[in-house]
Order: sequence, then structure tokens, then C-alpha cells
Amino acid sequence: MHLQPKDVGWIEVICGPMFSGKTEELIRRLKRAKIARQKVVIFKPSIDKRYHKKKIVSHSAQELDSIAVRNSKDIIRLVPLGTEVVGIDEAQFFDNGIVKVAQHLADSGIRVIIAGLDLDYKANPFGPMPILMCKAEYVTKNLAICVKCGNPASFTQRVSGGEKQILLGAMDSYEARCRKCFKPYVDN
Ligand code: ADP
Ligand code: ZN
Repeated sequence: MHLQPKDVGWIEVICGPMFSGKTEELIRRLKRAKIARQKVVIFKPSIDKRYHKKKIVSHSAQELDSIAVRNSKDIIRLVPLGTEVVGIDEAQFFDNGIVKVAQHLADSGIRVIIAGLDLDYKANPFGPMPILMCKAEYVTKNLAICVKCGNPASFTQRVSGGEKQILLGAMDSYEARCRKCFKPYVDN
């Protein structure tokens, strides 16, 4: 249980593998802020068009309206005056500039909630996520369920689709796996 911060901004990061409920948790926090009548705006990188161009959508089909931006710089420009909470989904796909953007927003008194994959399919840190996690006041790491054995899963296993770090629109190419069942992917 944290003390409730007053008259100050901060950064929250929600990380973990695919299917661990990051988007669900982001949506939960943002919906609660909306219920509290706070002014909320949500961003996602425009390369993530898997479910919907203008919404963030969880694997469990929950959704909220969002603004798709090409790069981190666009975010500052698009935050309306009076915004109290900024949500950012799929932050691993942003450039490193997202770190400065998050800090600038938090310094301006805004609560910034960021969701993203901490590890890529090779189990290496993904994009700006490690820095965001260091700079955040609050970090939540979610685990999924290993599809092989039912243990808690912290890895995203690629099961098809080649060796590029970013493989979009290919949900079937990934599975949540535990440490025991995760096997570095080899393209055949
Ligand atoms: P993330 O944003 O971390 O990819 P989502 O919030 O989009 O996750 O989706 C989480 C939901 O995915 C869960 O509530 C559950 O309904 C579903 N799901 C599918 N496969 C799994 C799995 N292997 N482990 C846990 N949840 C799963
Ligand atoms: Zn397992």
C-alpha cells in the first residue's frame, strides 16, 4: 500500500511477457482514473495496429480509445491542457525519446502509466523499457501462465515467423512460457 502522492506527477510501469495482462491492468487503472473524473489521454505506437487503429485492446477484449503516434515526440504535442493521467501502451516499440517524454510529463504533475514488454522473444531487454523501469516510481511485473506446464510465465516464446525483433499482426507466433519451457527460437 503506497501513500497517495499529492500535487506531483509520477511514472508507473507495468511490464511482463505477452498475455500477462499488461493491457488489462493499464485499462483497469485508466478506467478508475476516469471514474474519479480525471482527464485521461492514452497513446500507442502507430506500428501496433493488431486489433484496432484507435483503441488499445487486451487479449481479453477490453478496450479504451487511444491516439496512435508515429514517435515519442508527437505525444507531448497531443497532450491536451489540463490532462491529469497519460497512459502509454506497447511502450517497447517507441524510440528512446519516450524516456524524456515520460519524465517531462511526470515533472509537469501528470501521472504517467506505461505498459510494455520487458523482454523480446530472445529474452533480451526490449527497446526503452529497461530505462523506463529505472526511472519509474512504481514498477509492476506481471506473469502469464505457461502454456506448456501451467507455471508462472515470464518469457514470450516465438513459435514461428522468422528472426526479426518486431513481428506484428502475428499473435499466433507467440506463447507465454516459464523459465523451464522457454527455448530460444530457431528459424527453420
Ligand atoms: P498483455 O497486454 O500482457 O499481452 P492482455 O492484457 O492483452 O495481456 O491479455 C491478458 C489476457 O490474456 C488474460 O486475462 C487471459 O484472458 C488471456 N490469456 C491468453 N493466454 C494466456 C496465458 N498463457 N496466460 C495468461 N493469460 C492468457
Ligand atoms: Zn512451463
